Amino acid sequence: VLPAQALRLDDRFARALPEMALPWQAEEAPEPRLLALNEPLAAELGLDPAALRTPEGLRLLVGTAVPEGARPVAQAYSGHQFGGYSPRLGDGRALLLGELVDAQGTVRDLHLKGSGRTPFARGGDGLAAVGPMLREYVISEAMHALGIPTTRSLAVVATGRRIRRETVLPGAVLARVASSHLRVGSFQYARATDDVDLLRRLADLAIERHHPRAAEAENRYLALFEAVLAVQASLVAQWMLVGFIHGVMNTDNMTISGETIDYGPCAFMEAYDPDTVYSSIDEGGRYRYGNQPLAAEWNLARLAEALLPLISDDTEQAIALAVETLKTFRPRYDAALAEGMRAKLGLPADADGTALVDELLDLLQGNHVDWTSFFRRLADAARGDAEPVRLLFLDLAGIDGWLERWRSLGPDGEAMDRVNPVYIPRNHLVEEALDAATAGDTTLVEELVEVLSAPFAERPDHERYAGPAPQDFGATFRTFCGT
Ligand code: AMP
Ligand code: MG
Ligand code: MG
Repeated sequence: VLPAQALRLDDRFARALPEMALPWQAEEAPEPRLLALNEPLAAELGLDPAALRTPEGLRLLVGTAVPEGARPVAQAYSGHQFGGYSPRLGDGRALLLGELVDAQGTVRDLHLKGSGRTPFARGGDGLAAVGPMLREYVISEAMHALGIPTTRSLAVVATGRRIRRETVLPGAVLARVASSHLRVGSFQYARATDDVDLLRRLADLAIERHHPRAAEAENRYLALFEAVLAVQASLVAQWMLVGFIHGVMNTDNMTISGETIDYGPCAFMEAYDPDTVYSSIDEGGRYRYGNQPLAAEWNLARLAEALLPLISDDTEQAIALAVETLKTFRPRYDAALAEGMRAKLGLPADADGTALVDELLDLLQGNHVDWTSFFRRLADAARGDAEPVRLLFLDLAGIDGWLERWRSLGPDGEAMDRVNPVYIPRNHLVEEALDAATAGDTTLVEELVEVLSAPFAERPDHERYAGPAPQDFGATFRTFCGT
């Protein structure tokens, strides 16, 4: 059976929220060619990888063949972009194909990015280039392998279309899978319509799909807010622990599910510095590494504002309840981060590492130490060989003093190796692989995806994947969104 006919896609979002779902079609792709296919994910979704590789399968993956009964839609949403409100964003170059039930019985969205202009496209061309779509594929799958909640990438298909950026580039469509595409910006959109019934239907869908326990609470919409806040506090702590910089934490890029979404200008920090920012458009450093928890909290305040009419009919009371809940973000985030740092340092559950962590961060920053390499080498120190980690520091007296205090707490090197990755999507490796793919050779992308799929297991023959970028690369590296 051909996949487009076999695949059963629900149109649940479109039925529940027609005001936010614009039926739309993907643009023709003159010459679809498969660049990457995630076979394990396909299997999870109950899709046959062999069928996806057929011409009919590729048409499904670029949206030009629509399974019977499916109704692709562009989703409407609003959003604060770098602090400024845009009432009408929405899927300008993306389509929700529909929802499917995976092998575990979980409902998941199948979504396309780069599938052509929609009425939300504004000035954009609706298209995406091979490089950025493979970038999302590589980094989202790396995040998944790191155990961090994220949207997933099923496939990247080159369309055969040429698209105009600074140069002419090959076009591509990414098939993305998410537990949903509901965002803070979806709630802002519904709220802005002044249609409380729409807002309630949206909140009810979010509760059902992501936070079903909220339905049992006395105030289910306040409980929904609290649940989103909890998953986001945990998510951002996990980003910080691996050095992930999202780069464009606008409210339309923050999910209700707690999954990382929108891998535009994201990048991984190398030398520890809270001011690290890679995005070329983030001039004020709003979404710099160290500001991510604040940015998340700010976004959650926007979610709370959108939910106020559901939280209570009495606005004063709704605000008081929302503010009280919002205040729990920092302690939740701090606890998640502290617990994660304790694990990264291999310390026993009852150890208080707070002072140790503060001193360490000063040392790492002062010595420009690569975040990821440090923790792997520190595990060697736990096993008795401190030389590799000492080599990362100029201030030897400083690190020696710190190591002594840390060792006295009884760190476990094996436990450290289970939480500290050897391999992350390092910027120079990602760029190198994407450049090759744009020129027609996907070998490096495949190799990178493979290495990143098992980030905690050191491979002797993969040294070049483990270290930081050459100095000249790191200093000038910038990322771009919307390309
Ligand atoms: P982002 O910064 O990736 O979250 O995108 C913000 C908004 O711009 C969303 O509404 C996107 O759909 C839209 N957008 C980004 N790139 C394009 C494009 N090439 N064509 C049309 N819309 C786009
Ligand atoms: Mg986005
Ligand atoms: Mg984007």
